[in-house]
Amino acid sequence: MSTRFYNTKSRKKEIFVPIKKGHVNLYTCGPTVYDTAHIGNFRTFIFEDLLKRYLLLKGYGVTHVMNLTDVDDKTIKKSVAEKIPIRDLTNKYIDLFHSDIKKLKIIPADHYPRATDHIAGMIEMIKSLIEREFAYITDDGSVYFSISTYADYGRLANLNFELQQSTERVETDDYSKDNPQDFTLWKAWKDSDGEVFWDSPWGRGRPGWHIECSAMSVEYLGNHFDIHCGGVDNLFPHHENEIAQSVCATGKEFVNYWLHSEHLLLDSEKMSKSLGNFYHVKELLAAGYTSESLRYALLSTHYRSKLKFTNDKKHEAQKAVSRVQEIYNRLQEYVTDYADINGSANRVPASEDFIKALDDDLDVAGALSSVFDWIRKTNVQLDTKTLSEMDATNGIAFLLQVNSIFDILKFDLSIPEEIIQLAKERTQARKNRDWQNSDRIRDELYNLGWNIEDTPAGAKLKQR
Ligand code: AMP
Ligand code: ZN
Repeated sequence: MSTRFYNTKSRKKEIFVPIKKGHVNLYTCGPTVYDTAHIGNFRTFIFEDLLKRYLLLKGYGVTHVMNLTDVDDKTIKKSVAEKIPIRDLTNKYIDLFHSDIKKLKIIPADHYPRATDHIAGMIEMIKSLIEREFAYITDDGSVYFSISTYADYGRLANLNFELQQSTERVETDDYSKDNPQDFTLWKAWKDSDGEVFWDSPWGRGRPGWHIECSAMSVEYLGNHFDIHCGGVDNLFPHHENEIAQSVCATGKEFVNYWLHSEHLLLDSEKMSKSLGNFYHVKELLAAGYTSESLRYALLSTHYRSKLKFTNDKKHEAQKAVSRVQEIYNRLQEYVTDYADINGSANRVPASEDFIKALDDDLDVAGALSSVFDWIRKTNVQLDTKTLSEMDATNGIAFLLQVNSIFDILKFDLSIPEEIIQLAKERTQARKNRDWQNSDRIRDELYNLGWNIEDTPAGAKLKQR
């Protein structure tokens, strides 16, 4: 089945076709690094991880860019209040962000551009918008985008154009959908900005938030790319404004598919730094979640549904993760101490259902139900010893496929990595019919204390 994603732009599921065959360019809005990211932010980042892992499973190459917003009203306010240079403040939170990414086993993006390293590109884009008469300069040296110059303004957010009041201006980066206004591209320097400013053709100042993502996505992925993601709160004004800026500055199409994840809620309210109702990854790991159970808790609700987070989710998620881990361990034991799997996930019917569900706009509930149904049946076959060794290896291959999406398994580290590596090299040598090399590796393994045995299900390692 072909892949279908719900595209916010058309408000329906569309068949996904990348611009370049076999490759996907993906841009996801990253954190504002004035504080530690909370698990609401990570719900969105984990959804983006799911999307990327799915695309990789389908055989696409993926170039993923996530920006780091290291200058805005909030970062400046905090650096002034704490009397530390803005770069020191944001460095601290960027390091914490990367450490949480690792704890949650999120595959890192290929690029994490920082806004303050790309001011020149933003100035160029603003210049182009002024030249093309989509933007204007005010007396204080600020620059605004004039929304009345762009006929498609409001299409992404489905705005009522009757309400549009193009003569009004808004200086703040975030504002409500009820009153779309001309928004700021460049903010003239004010006393409260302290040391934070850059020189520009319009005088000292700093970029607005929206232009950051337009300039950096275009720089890393080109004018026109495949997928842009963020949480639903990014839809308006941020993404609406990104479209207006990019399309008007380049005269080209911008993004083909817009995917937005719903909010994570705590006590029925959006988890947010400003409301003060948040959990951090570190504190949940200290409170008994594992990386795997936290990933599961954040992933197992469909990305377009609100996720009500409670601490009780810990038990439910741990139970589900343990069931997958237990069957994996049982199958590994059933096959041998260690098997270099030759099996194929495709020979397990559940694998077809698993992928089919994900093909349908990342239907995780459907995908997980195919996994748990298969676990139930396979446990019975293991109990009654009616599972063939070949089906067991194919089952392991299926679980590795499931794990390539959810990453909730822990692997037995009792066999040293060096030994596993040698076993893999030997399998490869045998595939190449390089018997001399395969015999040499077998002897080397023997000298290191391991016997290797070839079976129809794959190579098996046993300690001597
Ligand atoms: P910020 O650091 O506020 O710029 O947010 C970074 C990302 O987290 C953005 O994509 C937001 O849409 C997303 N986000 C913020 N709060 C939540 C939440 N409670 N649930 C899900 N995503 C969120
Ligand atoms: Zn953005």
